Amino acid sequence: MAVTAAANKTQLFISNQWSGASDGASYDDTNPATGAVIAQVANASAADVDRAVKAARDAFERGKWATMAASRRAKIIYKIAQLIAERAGDIALLEVRDNGKTLATAKGELGAIVDCFEFYAGAATKNYGNSLPGPMPNYLAQTVREPVGVVGAIVPWNFPLLLASWKVAPALAAGCTIVLKPAGQTPLSALELAKIALEAGLPEGVLNVITGEGRDLGQAIVEHPGIDKIAFTGSTATGKRVAATAAQTVKRVTLELGGKSPSLVFDDVDMQQAVNGALYGIFYNAGQCCEARSRVLVQETIADEFIAMFTAKARKLRVGNPEDPHMQIGAITTQEQLDKIKSYCEIGASEGATLLLGGGPAQVGEGFEEGRFWNVSAYETQPAHRISREEVFGPVASFTRFKDEAQAIALANDSEYGLSATIWSQNIGRANRAAKALRTGTVAINTPYAVFPGIPFGGYKQSGYGRELGIETMALYSEIKSIITYIGEKPIDHFGV
Ligand code: NAD
Repeated sequence: MAVTAAANKTQLFISNQWSGASDGASYDDTNPATGAVIAQVANASAADVDRAVKAARDAFERGKWATMAASRRAKIIYKIAQLIAERAGDIALLEVRDNGKTLATAKGELGAIVDCFEFYAGAATKNYGNSLPGPMPNYLAQTVREPVGVVGAIVPWNFPLLLASWKVAPALAAGCTIVLKPAGQTPLSALELAKIALEAGLPEGVLNVITGEGRDLGQAIVEHPGIDKIAFTGSTATGKRVAATAAQTVKRVTLELGGKSPSLVFDDVDMQQAVNGALYGIFYNAGQCCEARSRVLVQETIADEFIAMFTAKARKLRVGNPEDPHMQIGAITTQEQLDKIKSYCEIGASEGATLLLGGGPAQVGEGFEEGRFWNVSAYETQPAHRISREEVFGPVASFTRFKDEAQAIALANDSEYGLSATIWSQNIGRANRAAKALRTGTVAINTPYAVFPGIPFGGYKQSGYGRELGIETMALYSEIKSIITYIGEKPIDHFGV
């Protein structure tokens, strides 16, 4: 795989063939850390969506993927996992150059991507239906799960290949065919996945990857009548539009959307553990993380000490060259995102939030003058401040103090989002009471890590619906068919004519 400063020209992957966009269009893909153009990417149009959907439809209706023995599908998915593992170093570097994340973060993701494909290789043979109590003794009833059909998988830029794998792996396991659209800013790793799928023996048309910039391409996928299900990850605003558009053709939809997830820090914590966890919770991937624990709610009796320790440690975080293996905070992926972070910091200041740390762009040295970097930042806020209510999607923590458990839970739940939360407490009764009371799809207790292939992930409220990961997700890539068999000796003859 060539990853060089010289720009590569990429193509679309449709029916196991590589081709340019129908109208020959392309756009520049840049490295967020340096501003260098790293690829000229095919800029697909609605005509290319149509080609890709036809390929996927054909593969679903006339190909063998959907009806193949699940154990054979499993072997191909497992092979994909193996090939990704073999090339993890190269793909991680590609992701770093495309997205701006640190090498350490990208390597961690590659491990999780391999785990995801391995998990769903195993799940392919376990997409069970049920044997049901018959309505009468001379009836047998069962359900079987069949693939939902053609899946349109739409992915954002913050975890490009990871979030693609969360969709592609279960969709393949269930027997679906796929049109995958990575975000315009980070298309390269999805194209590597296409190469690997081809090598692993995936039949033609089963996975198609189309790249392009702008919103129209995603919109064309959601509108296309040849697609049965949309698996979408992105912002809540776009998610609402996707759901409304998909309703026109009654597509199945799963939405993984935004968040404003809290860390709840109670006064009985192990201070070091909680500070380290809260730091990671917000600054991992430069805060460009849907489940970033961007609201730190701290019990007032320990708040001064906690905030002092947090800010002292945060000052030591290394921001800069994402390819340096020791770097901890990389670049901000898009200019739009950098502008949004800047604007939220300004809003915080104008609303009276107290700046504790950072609050401005980071200068990271020679060679990165054209790059986009933001200092790790923290504010002390009131619950009404926009910076503590709205998704910033950057390395910006907001601290709010609470008196007691009831107030902590009320503050945590006072959000239009409900993706994740972490509870820091040594009191297992309190931690589990709080876990039950929180309206979020995931609750982590005394750990900032909460995302694993076997554990369902997704949101309550405006963080979306449906789940990704976990064996449960197989149901979301399947239709349930009920089969009822009459086994009585006497023929049914109700009319008697
Ligand atoms: P976005 O909504 O702007 O874009 C997401 C994807 O949708 C991109 O591929 C984009 O091209 C496409 N798109 C844009 N307009 C579309 C339309 N009208 N129809 C169909 N597709 C369209 O989001 P983003 O800025 O790329 O990503 C950041 C957002 O994603 C944040 O809000 C973040 O919280 C969310 N996110 C959520 C999760 C999760 O699992 N809940 C994970 C990662 C990111």
